[in-house]
Amino acid sequence: MDPITALLHEALEDVRPQTGGATADYIPQLAAADPDRLALAVVGPRGRVRAVGDADHEFTIQSISKPFVLALALADRGRDEVMRRVGAEPSGEPFNAISLEAGTGRPANPMVNAGAIATSGLIPGGGVDERTARIVDGLSAFAGRSLWVDEQVYASESATGDRNRALAHLLRSHGIIDGPVDTAVETYFRQCSVLVTVRDLAVMSATLAFGGVNPVNGDRVVPEPVARDVLSIMTSCGMYDYSGEWLLRVGLPAKSGVSGGLLAVAPSQFGVAAFSPRLDEHGNSVRGIALLEALSERFGMHLLEPHDSVAVPAFTVEDTDRGRVLRLSGELGLAGMERVVAVLREVAEAMPDGAEVTVDARALGRAHDAALVALRTEFEQMPHSIRLAD
Ligand code: GLN
Repeated sequence: MDPITALLHEALEDVRPQTGGATADYIPQLAAADPDRLALAVVGPRGRVRAVGDADHEFTIQSISKPFVLALALADRGRDEVMRRVGAEPSGEPFNAISLEAGTGRPANPMVNAGAIATSGLIPGGGVDERTARIVDGLSAFAGRSLWVDEQVYASESATGDRNRALAHLLRSHGIIDGPVDTAVETYFRQCSVLVTVRDLAVMSATLAFGGVNPVNGDRVVPEPVARDVLSIMTSCGMYDYSGEWLLRVGLPAKSGVSGGLLAVAPSQFGVAAFSPRLDEHGNSVRGIALLEALSERFGMHLLEPHDSVAVPAFTVEDTDRGRVLRLSGELGLAGMERVVAVLREVAEAMPDGAEVTVDARALGRAHDAALVALRTEFEQMPHSIRLAD
């Protein structure tokens, strides 16, 4: 077993004894789930999937569909059009709250049910089947395999979905959704009933972590700015009225669902997903939260702790026929630029008079404009002959 899988195993066994919480019972089919199931999966930049526990067990995606349908709506309609129908503020309320913005009728954000029904109403298509097909195709692209709807869970959810139906009626009365209420709400129920495994969720999460490109098959699923928008909203709103404490403890964009799935995104590092059906009072998986908290701590994934890759850019110094070359790679932001200038000064000072130093920035994965401009200005002020290849 490779060392990362061993760590995942250990994390899984650490949380296994926790049996607090209960399976969701307001959707009868979900109440029947085996509460002891437990699984965890991680997908890194090369698309390698590491999974432990019941990693091939299928369950319905539920609310974890919301960020991905939001991504499809953003890609199709653009941010302004989406934001006319749904906000981007944490609601501080339960996921199924009946509350809309005064005046506009906009739901607080696309991660609560009202917002998700509004977002799914933005997916083009004539009826439920056409819209569902588009959504299922989109979710499948994120997962890198063909997904489908669990008809029994869908029927169970539709039969007991009065609260969501009420929300859809309210949304229609405010002009937030167009067309028949039934089309909007049944499409939403079907999107929630798509079957996934924890592996699928980890790949979907990784696709958001790597700017909209599925790292397993290399396919671009959504444009990079769309992935960034979705992650921003997951960060502030993904865990419902636990989002603030989650950000404090785990520090990652995330989304949970009532069947017990939970995914978290470590941008540029990993997609992670957990599955354990017992939920806490917010509707979030109890052991899923415990697992993600442990992983974030062990792997240093909290977004807001220092991450040196930006402050300390990678470079190599090489002697060539044309003099010394400083080759930069990775990401160059303003903080990293300061370090490059300091190293360059040392390198240039140690060179004989008249020798040239070249800074080769062509291998930079990402160079922020402000950093390159500042770098050029610094070079011009240095007493040595420095050339920038970019
Ligand atoms: N289908 C569920 C509902 O609408 C989704 C809620 C959830 O996963 N939190 O009630």
